[in-house]
Amino acid sequence: MKFLLILLTVARLFSNNTNIFINSSTMNETYLKITQGQICPYCNCATKLVTGDEIYPHRIHEEPRPKFLDKKYYLCTQNDDHYVGTYADNITSLGRLADKTLRQLKHEGHNVFDPLWKTQSHFESQKAAYDWLSAKMQLPLEFTHFGMFTDEQCMEAIRYCREISL
Ligand SMILES: [Zn+2]
Repeated sequence: MKFLLILLTVARLFSNNTNIFINSSTMNETYLKITQGQICPYCNCATKLVTGDEIYPHRIHEEPRPKFLDKKYYLCTQNDDHYVGTYADNITSLGRLADKTLRQLKHEGHNVFDPLWKTQSHFESQKAAYDWLSAKMQLPLEFTHFGMFTDEQCMEAIRYCREISL
């Protein structure tokens, strides 16, 4: 009986690893380009690096001038609702291009995930929180970021965060 349990555990470990392996190997060049903001995942087209003036044209006359207007964004070349911001370097994308629905899901995701480590209610560091989420989602750590998630992945992550927040 004990042997059987060990065998099952090993089999489960192996299948988990296989999943991770399959996930990694399917993260091909296109997937990488999507998560790096170089291809629009909705239109499958190229993107361009623009300033906030192109993303928020209705806000360019505000005084004082909003700081986000001088940030850079990757914008879809076919649909101006598809965009993503960049890190402080104004070149590295925060993840995949998002539409309005995905932007809301990412926002909601951070709202339920960040307090888990910021208040140290569940994790002692941001790293520990991402390690946990990566294992729950069976995603490599480098792809475990709300900015890279699809709608479905955001919803999955939100569900896990809500489960442990209860
Ligand atoms: Zn697009």
